[in-house]
Amino acid sequence: MAKKQFAVIGMGRFGSSVAGALTNLGFEVLAIDRDEQKIQDIADQVTHAVSADTTDEDALRAIGVRNFDVVVVAIGADIQASILTTLILKDLGVPRLIVKAQNELHGKVLGKIGADKVIYPERDMGLRVAHHLISPNILDYIELSDAYSIVEMKAPSQAIGRNLKQLDVRAKYKCNVLAIKSGEHMNISPYAEDIIREQDILVIVGKNEDLALLEIEFAEG
Ligand code: ATP
Repeated sequence: MAKKQFAVIGMGRFGSSVAGALTNLGFEVLAIDRDEQKIQDIADQVTHAVSADTTDEDALRAIGVRNFDVVVVAIGADIQASILTTLILKDLGVPRLIVKAQNELHGKVLGKIGADKVIYPERDMGLRVAHHLISPNILDYIELSDAYSIVEMKAPSQAIGRNLKQLDVRAKYKCNVLAIKSGEHMNISPYAEDIIREQDILVIVGKNEDLALLEIEFAEG
């Protein structure tokens, strides 16, 4: 199967980071920005780089942007440009359109005009940092919906040497341990009798407020 081809529009900090990372992962990446200087700066880190104003439908057509499997719109501050670009890309029939939103309202508009996925990098990163600050044990935090999340945490001291039944995460915190990572080994449907060892990582799913209680309790262990 041919490798996916990506176009990334907007070479700000976020867009250039996405474009560079995808290229490093071995994908073909076209970087687009209306600022010629930004294009020169990114040119040697991506497969192709072109300067164009993406609110100009003819320019997008000429680039052949609809032939890309995924287009990421990473225009932030200029909300009008972000919305117009998204609208045009949707009209051109881009298969998958991922757009960065500046705020909730911007994100709502993007969803309504056909963005397949709206992302909030600053908000999500802020959330992760906040969870890490609550407890240094928290390694990652992923929102599944407004109400539910998955948290990845280092096994707290009070869990070490005990099994899931003894910890009673389900009854005490109404959360579920989805997996236990021990080094390279991943136990993806742990049994109640499985013992948690030092350095293990727990992957837990639950309601946000239940996870918050668990995080605080486990932070103090
Ligand atoms: P970051 O926080 O990721 O640095 P940002 O959210 O502040 O970025 P901007 O800097 O406003 O976003 O925009 C990112 C890039 O998008 C800029 O390099 C800008 O030149 C480019 N851009 C803005 N409007 C357009 C447009 N109409 N066509 C092409 N590129 C555009």
